[in-house]
Amino acid sequence: MVRPKHLLILGGTGEAAALARQAVNRPGLKVTTSLAGETRTPARLKGAVRSGGFGGADGMADYLRQARVDLVVDATHPFAAVISHNAAKVCSAVGLAHIHLVRPPWERQEDDTWIDVDDLIQAAQEVAGRRAFLTIGRVELGRFAEVEDAWFLVRVIDPPAQPPPLANCRVIQGRPPFTVETERALMADHKIDVVASKNSGGASTYAKITAARALGLPVVMVRRPPPPNGPVVASVEKTLAWLAEHQT
Ligand code: NAP
Repeated sequence: MVRPKHLLILGGTGEAAALARQAVNRPGLKVTTSLAGETRTPARLKGAVRSGGFGGADGMADYLRQARVDLVVDATHPFAAVISHNAAKVCSAVGLAHIHLVRPPWERQEDDTWIDVDDLIQAAQEVAGRRAFLTIGRVELGRFAEVEDAWFLVRVIDPPAQPPPLANCRVIQGRPPFTVETERALMADHKIDVVASKNSGGASTYAKITAARALGLPVVMVRRPPPPNGPVVASVEKTLAWLAEHQT
């Protein structure tokens, strides 16, 4: 009997979950999604799931060999630069078929007021003295710890195990997608005067950008880190076409 091809999806995004949902239905394909293990209550995924870091590039190479992986789709978040560079490097070194599924970044619209910055340290400097809506996740909140005279509305997926390292803040929980109406009301109710966001792209968190535009608020927009070398696709459909080409 022919062994099914083993597809490893590096996950942690909606695109990764959508790809797993579709890929499990393909005959001759075994699907495993890898998660970093940061989110305590990850969304349910189709197919097999492994969780936790591999132990750097060498650990990933060991895993790929031991699990007899044939195809790798890196569907991690555009800001997850370490895992993406490791995947590109390891797959190229061992000659494994690999593709990067990454959603296009958001483009500034005519009525947007964006303050483009390179990283969260620069973003923190831009929100000093303001009431900022922070939608950058839980892990990197420390970058804003030294900001003077700011108040933060912080949205996270998991309830934080400890209070965030911010002097003045309110923490709320929420899992995308969000609507423009609720984002707008949230910002107005908390008298937000600036939004800080990574340029994540995609529809599920874009409502805050539309709401900021409608309220005339500036958005401190963090540019994406440089992507790894290698082939890139922007949609699940194109990834499925790539899989069809490489599965045989
Ligand atoms: P990162 O900086 O690129 O990775 C840090 C380390 O976490 C990696 O070196 C790797 O550990 C481990 N890791 C990351 N993604 C993994 C995966 N899918 N499977 C197994 N190990 C993984 O990544 P990050 O920015 O911390 O993001 C972590 C996860 O959250 C990713 O899966 C990403 O898709 C998701 N996420 C990130 C963001 C964001 O803004 N960064 C937003 C939404 C979702 P080892 O070196 O030990 O292998």
